[in-house]
Amino acid sequence: MYVVLLGPPGAGKGSQAPELAREIGGVHISTGEMLRAALRSGTPYGLKAREYMETGRLVPDDIVLGMLMERLEQDDARENVVLDGFPRNEAQALALDETLRAGGKRVDCAVNIEVPEEVLVQRLGGRWTCSSCGAIYHQAFHPPRRAGVCDACGGELRQRLDDHDEAVKQRLQVYFTETAPVVEFYRQAGRLAEVNGNQAREAVTRDLLAAVQRECAAERQAR
Ligand code: AMP
Repeated sequence: MYVVLLGPPGAGKGSQAPELAREIGGVHISTGEMLRAALRSGTPYGLKAREYMETGRLVPDDIVLGMLMERLEQDDARENVVLDGFPRNEAQALALDETLRAGGKRVDCAVNIEVPEEVLVQRLGGRWTCSSCGAIYHQAFHPPRRAGVCDACGGELRQRLDDHDEAVKQRLQVYFTETAPVVEFYRQAGRLAEVNGNQAREAVTRDLLAAVQRECAAERQAR
């Protein structure tokens, strides 16, 4: 089963996707995480992506597609996958469909996590991410037990380079102009479910799972 998780920056994709992947017995693939890892280890993909990421713009499609297609060829990504942060524009959505079709597969459903814009800005401002396992915290809404330390693995919590005011504004703008049409793309294809992301984390997880079970399963049965 291939599930695409959609939603603006700060909607909770990075917190919810690992849970969802666990529930469907699959892997969580985040293109943002892959790019940050490439940047940390100084690979050619990472070096090319740096200036775009730091200023909150989309990394060019050829870089992201190259990286993602390599990842989708790995053994653990052949069955059940939750994609987070991809596709970010219509060209990426079409490229994904084409790649999966070549392997006799397709995106079973996309789930859009909806959150009002003013809530997104608050969330991104106070966000802390574990530099070791990627777990996400918020200084007001979901604080770690010990300041600066990840509850899950003890790693150091850091603020992402693109969570400062200017980059946040840019990322939201990019979302509304370039990524929001992807929601319509899946809606028109009859493969979209929507979930209210402005509620407690556990409630969002519950609704997401229900949406995936309902929409993805229906889509698979219809084929
Ligand atoms: P994220 O962790 O998904 O918020 O992504 C962080 C940053 O990585 C984005 O602001 C973009 O600069 C870049 N990025 C992640 N995924 C993509 C993608 N599918 N296409 C282009 N750029 C991306």
